[in-house]
Amino acid sequence: MALAEADTTALEAQLRRRMERLYPLCRSLTGDGVRQTLAILADDLPATHPLEVRRVPSGSHVFDWTVPPEWNARAAWIADATSGERLIDLADHTLHLVSYSVPFSGRLDRAELEPHLHSLPDRPDQIPYRTSYYARDWGFCLSQRQRDGLGRGPFDVVVDTTLTEGDEGGELVYGEVLLPGEDPDAGEVLISSHLCHPSLANDNLSGLSVAIELASRIGARRHRLSYRFVLAPGTIGSLTWLAEHPGVRPRHLLVLTGLGGGGPLVYKRTRRGGQAIDRAAEHVVGRRAGRIIDYSPYGYDERQYNALGFDLPAGRLTRTPHGEYPEYHTSADDLGFVHDDELVEAMTAIEEILEVLEGDATYRNLSPYGEPQLGKRGLYPKMGGRSADDAVMAMLWLMACSDGETSVLSIAERAGLPFGVLRKAADDLLGAGLLG
Ligand code: ZN
Repeated sequence: MALAEADTTALEAQLRRRMERLYPLCRSLTGDGVRQTLAILADDLPATHPLEVRRVPSGSHVFDWTVPPEWNARAAWIADATSGERLIDLADHTLHLVSYSVPFSGRLDRAELEPHLHSLPDRPDQIPYRTSYYARDWGFCLSQRQRDGLGRGPFDVVVDTTLTEGDEGGELVYGEVLLPGEDPDAGEVLISSHLCHPSLANDNLSGLSVAIELASRIGARRHRLSYRFVLAPGTIGSLTWLAEHPGVRPRHLLVLTGLGGGGPLVYKRTRRGGQAIDRAAEHVVGRRAGRIIDYSPYGYDERQYNALGFDLPAGRLTRTPHGEYPEYHTSADDLGFVHDDELVEAMTAIEEILEVLEGDATYRNLSPYGEPQLGKRGLYPKMGGRSADDAVMAMLWLMACSDGETSVLSIAERAGLPFGVLRKAADDLLGAGLLG
């Protein structure tokens, strides 16, 4: 599936614009930043398949976990107590405040402040990303250069946050988009992306932007399979979705994140491996000179979906995986770190993977006694050239291997041709009565 140049430009602009709107928001596991994020994502979907916002009260039990209190940050800063100058301010960068910091207000000297500061001495200009979801504490993240310049204090520190649950309210929200397919028995594809990180572009915004674009594009065309998009905070969000949908068994799952930031596409296999999503993704990513890596029980939400109790086949698509690039979980994972062409390539690859899931099938050659005459059936392309050769080779491979057991994808792999070329040739042969 190739996009025309004008389409590519429009698509790049759309993916970029969405990330720019999302980037400044103070997201976490819960809170207004997540609601605002879902509202922005919902803007880009038509009323025919809206983004549904699901709400689960804080304190709800989800398997071995508990939905945390809702966290909101109104303001947070470290000021020089003498001059009143704000030295570090949440208003300047969402990474400055440790996510889930408890409220605090007080005057501290440097030694008292130190245990609450986080910086990266080996990367002196970057602000790290830190969370404190389960340990009740507060803290600030800052560049090493900012830390070195703080002075001796004393400091006035304000952490104006709220943590609400129980009678005060408090909830976890996540988004879901459903696109019912034409064939209710064909199964469902679940595409999952986390939305709990603040101003980090590759690690979460790239996946969200591409996922919503996919939902919009799939919704505008015919599709046999059903699609479901789950946009939820990492770990607790996907577990909450799983707890709330015990009867839903998606047949193919794909976790999306980190789709920019350099490097080739990387597909991580499902725990079992050899599933339809694995075969489709390995074909597409392999042809794009990407990397295929085996399952490991570390990473993003694929580890929840693949857990033994659910046993759902979830693969994952990224570029350079988390932890393997120096910008990971720092302020250097900004809008400039994600390139437009990377997102378009990722989206095109995902659409090709879905094309395989939609279109793979097994046929039988109905004219198996020697090679059939393609010319007299109008199947020989009139024009020469490489794509014509591919089309003929695709037909010959299909006639050679369609034994009622070997799928179109398997034949594409053996022929070394893209699935889409084989699929088109199969349709031509079906139309000519040569396959059935
Ligand atoms: Zn992350």
